[in-house]
Amino acid sequence: MPSDFPYDVLIIGGSAAGLSAATTLGRARRRVLVLDAGQPCNRPAPHSHGFLTRDGMPPAQLTAVAREQLGTYPTVVLQAGIAVRAEAHASGYRVTTAEGATYAARKLLLATGLHDELPLIPGFAECWGRSVLHCPYCHGYEVHSQPLGVLGNGDAGFEFARLIHQWSPDVRLFTNGPTTLTAEQTALLTVHGIEVIEARITAIAHEAGQLHHVELAAGSRVPLRALFARVPFRQSSDLGARLGCELTETGLLRCDEFGRTTVPGVYAAGDNSSPLRQLMAAAASGMKAGAFINHDLIAADF
Ligand SMILES: Cc1cc2nc3c(=O)[nH]c(=O)nc-3n(C[C@H](O)[C@H](O)[C@H](O)COP(=O)(O)OP(=O)(O)OC[C@H]3O[C@@H](n4cnc5c(N)ncnc54)[C@H](O)[C@@H]3O)c2cc1C
Repeated sequence: MPSDFPYDVLIIGGSAAGLSAATTLGRARRRVLVLDAGQPCNRPAPHSHGFLTRDGMPPAQLTAVAREQLGTYPTVVLQAGIAVRAEAHASGYRVTTAEGATYAARKLLLATGLHDELPLIPGFAECWGRSVLHCPYCHGYEVHSQPLGVLGNGDAGFEFARLIHQWSPDVRLFTNGPTTLTAEQTALLTVHGIEVIEARITAIAHEAGQLHHVELAAGSRVPLRALFARVPFRQSSDLGARLGCELTETGLLRCDEFGRTTVPGVYAAGDNSSPLRQLMAAAASGMKAGAFINHDLIAADF
């Protein structure tokens, strides 16, 4: 074992995916460093839902419990910091942080998440995670049967509106400009009582993040309990791309079902490599990547 590579695995990102991988690797007695900038994508949400046995827990509490439990494993080190550079070496990877520290490990796991690019509609950012919502499985139950909006257009808008209709019969689809729905899609939405509103949204009126109504360019107001919106995203970190990892058409890190990216020794887990943005899914992929990193280390050494 090269002495200048003190860690088996360096995990960049210490949220659901990274901490889950660290738990698996710590329990396999691997020397692990978790480097985390502390900016998970769900931080605006007051509560997270759907995580088995932790339904309704504030997101920060969920990771705090995981971090505390990781304290049981002496080979796992949690370190605050922002990784800004990663270089391949014959024995593994060397990572430099914005704070000027350098760490080296045999394997690198990117659990860096995604960054949501919120539209510049006044009020949108303030309501994000509170009453402007990305996912009905995470936050739909709390607003079921109430007046809901969906921001979207075309095929994606149609699919999203009919999904949200499962939670409430009172749904409006805001195309925020001329509709690109097909005539058949519009007819189907109408049959199910979903009004299509083409006027531009000029503002989201709210009180402390709780949506009150949306204001339209036409001058009218539509009262809503919540607005569902899927927004564009980008990788939170470009380290994977700079290491040469392939991205999918949708901008996710391409990896196999065990978390191996297209670059040997570099793995990915969580939102950065999965279309399913859920805490349980992120934790599961972190667990799986941890197990297969351990498997690959054993295969190299045994
Ligand atoms: C507003 C909102 C609410 C949500 N609510 C729910 C919910 O109720 N239930 C649910 O199941 N899911 C919910 N989700 C989805 C869930 O939050 C994500 O699926 C989950 O957080 C993904 O975990 P992750 O570890 O992949 O990434 P993240 O949780 O985003 O964490 C990535 C971590 O990596 C760190 N990082 C990134 N780059 C670097 C770097 N260069 N150096 C060091 N650290 C770095 C970040 O700072 C961050 O701490 C929500 C998402 C959003 C946006």
